[in-house]
Amino acid sequence: MANAKTKNTNCLDGLKCQKCGSLGPFRVESTCMATWDDDGIGATDGFDFSPDSFARCGECDATGTVHSLLQSEVSRDDNKEYAS
Ligand SMILES: [Zn+2]
Repeated sequence: MANAKTKNTNCLDGLKCQKCGSLGPFRVESTCMATWDDDGIGATDGFDFSPDSFARCGECDATGTVHSLLQSEVSRDDNKEYAS
């Protein structure tokens, strides 16, 4: 029963769909650092999202913000403020 997961404990720590209870996967509006050149994108890293990021449940298609749809039971400890 390797996949008998009852809660997310890593990248989606404490998050689940509040409509259907799914633990993901979710589509989440994310930020990252990307290496651009004139031909397009090379390496990407540093992916993250915030409680206000748009999210869509891959199971039931419900949409909302990470905070309203996926509601963190255990708040993420790395909610970063982004310089504008
Ligand atoms: Zn759902």
